[in-house]
This record gives sequence, structure tokens and C-alpha cells, in this order.
Amino acid sequence: MHNGGVSFWWQQVGLPSPADPLTGDDVCDVAIVGGGLTGLWTAHYLREADPSLDVRVVEARFAGFGASGRNGGWLSSELAGSVRTYERAAGPEGVERLRAALRATVDEVIGVADREGIDADVVRSGVLMVARSEAQRQRLDGELSAEQVAARIRVAGAVSGHFDADCARVHPAKLVSGVARVVRERGVRVHEGTRAVRLEPGAVHTDRGTLRAPVVLRCLEGFTAGLAGHRRDWLPMNSAIVVTEPLSDAQWAEVGWEGQELLGDEAHAYCYAQRTADGRIALGGRGVPYRFGSRTDVDGRTQEWTVESLRATLTSLFPSLAGIGLDHTWCGVLGVPRDWSASVAYDPATGLGHAGGYVGSGLTATNLAGRTLRDLVLGASTDLTALPWTGHRVRRWEPEPLRWAGVHALYRLYRAADRREDAGLGRTSRVARLANRVAGR
Ligand SMILES: Cc1cc2nc3c(=O)[nH]c(=O)nc-3n(C[C@H](O)[C@H](O)[C@H](O)COP(=O)(O)OP(=O)(O)OC[C@H]3O[C@@H](n4cnc5c(N)ncnc54)[C@H](O)[C@@H]3O)c2cc1C
Repeated sequence: MHNGGVSFWWQQVGLPSPADPLTGDDVCDVAIVGGGLTGLWTAHYLREADPSLDVRVVEARFAGFGASGRNGGWLSSELAGSVRTYERAAGPEGVERLRAALRATVDEVIGVADREGIDADVVRSGVLMVARSEAQRQRLDGELSAEQVAARIRVAGAVSGHFDADCARVHPAKLVSGVARVVRERGVRVHEGTRAVRLEPGAVHTDRGTLRAPVVLRCLEGFTAGLAGHRRDWLPMNSAIVVTEPLSDAQWAEVGWEGQELLGDEAHAYCYAQRTADGRIALGGRGVPYRFGSRTDVDGRTQEWTVESLRATLTSLFPSLAGIGLDHTWCGVLGVPRDWSASVAYDPATGLGHAGGYVGSGLTATNLAGRTLRDLVLGASTDLTALPWTGHRVRRWEPEPLRWAGVHALYRLYRAADRREDAGLGRTSRVARLANRVAGR
């Protein structure tokens, strides 16, 4: 089994060599730090709105190296954050506007991909969430019976399900490399192999020189802690994926899954899966949740414990696949703010802005955030700039070792809660409620 190599998705399309690094000091109009989907979509929409702008992206490795090229491929309308947080900012009506904007964004991403010739294996297949215990059934409150779930995907022990059509399956590396191509074609320079070390109003200081710009946008998500002065802003939470060998026709006949839905469960330590375009199952989950000192992985290399726990989840969902080979595993980091809710912000006085903190739901949200940053930077007051995550402020994470101990304790509690519920508790475990309080969700 291949472990790391950034991701299976990147290995399929081929790892790119970093291009166009910064060569000494330079100036531009907008400097975007981070070449994931947040940075790339922001560059795309800014250039589209004003082709005269000199927009640059500064990227430590290559465009799509981070979560954007490693994720589970759920282009979903899930809320990137907590309902309660956004309700406090803008009431239930504000939350509804954000939900509607995210639903529309699924179509926006698919539309851009269609228009720009980005073939990212997109299927608008929807997402099937399943409950596998009474406690999960109560939380999910789904409209599908066990039989209706089995008619789509034969998940062992599924007692009910919920289907949401506003979700598409994508190939992450094909999507992000396509967006990077489009951005470059529009005249944006993406300075790969260029690491930002410090940001200040008017300047991005990198290991290859200083890029000066009146507008500096931080789009680093799970890598934010690596930047001077931002160590405790967002916690780099780990998520890992395993990919099986291609299933045989007989194996698919056992499993079903003809609709290619995205698949998730209602466990506290939840899993997420997709049927890939080439007939495999990619299944992800938390694994070892966090590395001490906000460190990140080395090119996606995953711990053995995580691989074994994902293998156990796979065979628990699909016992007929016990013994199936795993071809690849990798991990990546997502950005988790202290209140588990995303933000988009820009201060015209300093020219500094940022977007991110989507926790595990950023694939769609990056596009919405990019369009919102565009409007904020251009000084336009729009429906997007009025969304409840705009200008949202959050306190910082605790210092180490509290941060490490807290996150690991949290996931021990979630796993304990899952075990109790799986053993027939019949309601959501109090342990999980306690964990949610500790987490501040
Ligand atoms: C394993 C996994 C599975 C996921 N599954 C899903 C899913 O199915 N659906 C979903 O909605 N979301 C999912 N997510 C989350 C989603 O992928 C992210 O929210 C989204 O891709 C964030 O994009 P981004 O551009 O903000 O960050 P990233 O894509 O992480 O981009 C940040 C970029 O900054 C660069 N960088 C880092 N440090 C520096 C520096 N000092 N200077 C310059 N550049 C730097 C990195 O190399 C990286 O390219 C998943 C995440 C992971 C890790």
C-alpha cells in the first residue's frame, strides 16, 4: 500500500513540479497567500471582475498541495460551521441565507468546471447519510427506511437514512489543478515553491523575497499555524483516507451503490466515503486527530493506527469486503477555529484579509468565500458580504500542552460515545454531549 505521496488523487494525475517561484522582491496589486481552492477561487473571481488587477498567489509547494488536493471529494452544501454561532451573528434567517448560498455554490462550481473544460469526474449524485444505531437514527431523523437505504447502498446495520441531492462527487486533484490552470490562463501568476514566513500590511515576506501589495489575503486553512503570529488561530485537524483496490463486478453487486452517492454516517467520529470514477471506495475519517504543536504531516504520510481504524470502519460498513486490498492511504489538515465556524474578513484600513476555518466542509465553501473576498476587496456591499460568516471573530486556541491534551481527550470521548451507542444505548450518549461542550461547538 502506498502511504503518503500527497494523495491518491495527485498520484493519479501526476505530481506537478513547482513553477514560477518568486525571484526576489516584487510588487503587485493583490497578494494571496496559499494556493488551495480558497486562494485560487479568490484570484479567479478578482481577475474576472477586474482584468487590470495584478493578482499573485504565493504557494509554498504547488497549487493544490494541501487539503484541496487531498479531500474526500464531497462537493456538498453542508454548513461550514455551527448553526448556533451563525445564528448569534445573523439569526435563523442569516443561517438560511448561508445555507442557500452554499447550495447555489455547488452549481456555481459545476458551472465553472463545465465552462472552463475542467473534467473532475463530477457526478451530481447527492449524499446518503446513514444511521447505524438507535442513537444515530434519532440524530439523523432521516426519511429513508432501512430497506430504502439498502436499495441504494447495502451498508451493514443501517437502520435509516437521509438523502440530500445538493451534493456532487468530484476528483479533488482534477478540480484544483483545473482551477489553477484557469487562473493562470486569466493572467494570475502563481508563485509555487515560495513560502510566506510573515505577513504585514502591504507585504508578504517569503523565503524568496518580499512581495509588496496594498491587499494581502491569507488563505492557509490548516497551515495557518505555520505563519509567524498565527500559531493559535486555527488548529490543524487531521483527516485521513484509504482507497481500496478496484472492486470486481461481483463485489459491486454485493454492495450496490449504483447511484454513486457520497456516503456518510452519523457516528461522532464520523466517516465519509465516495465511489471513485475508476470503481474503488475511498473512505475517510479522523484517525489520530492532531499533532503536538500544530505540526502538519509530511506529504500526507499517515500513522498505522489510523489506517487500521479506517480498515475496520470499511469492513464494518461492508463485511463482504473483508480482506479487500487497500492501494493507498494519505492524510491532510483542515483548519478548525476555536468555535468550529468559518470566517471571511477584510479590513480596508490595513488591506489585510483572510478566509477559511471551514473544519471538514470546505470544498464548496472555498468558492463562496472566494467570491465574498472579491466583493470585500472591491468595496462592494452585496448579498455575499452580508452572510453571517463575514467579519466573524473567534478567540484563539489554548497554548500547548493544553491544546494537544484537549483535542486528544475530545476524540477519546467521541469514540467512547460511539462505542456506547453501538452497544445499544438507545439515545445520544451524555459523553458526546460533554465532548461537544468541551469542544465549544
Ligand atoms: C483528508 C481530507 C478530507 C476532506 N474531505 C472534504 C470533503 O469531502 N468535502 C469538503 O467539503 N471538505 C473536505 N475537506 C476540507 C477541504 O478539503 C478544505 O476545507 C479545503 O480544501 C480548504 O481549502 P484551502 O484553500 O482553504 O486550504 P488548502 O487546500 O489546505 O490550501 C492551503 C495552501 O497553503 C499552502 N501553504 C501552506 N503554508 C504556506 C506558506 N507558509 N506560504 C505559502 N503557502 C503555504 C499549502 O501548501 C496549501 O496548498 C477535507 C480535508 C481533508 C484534509
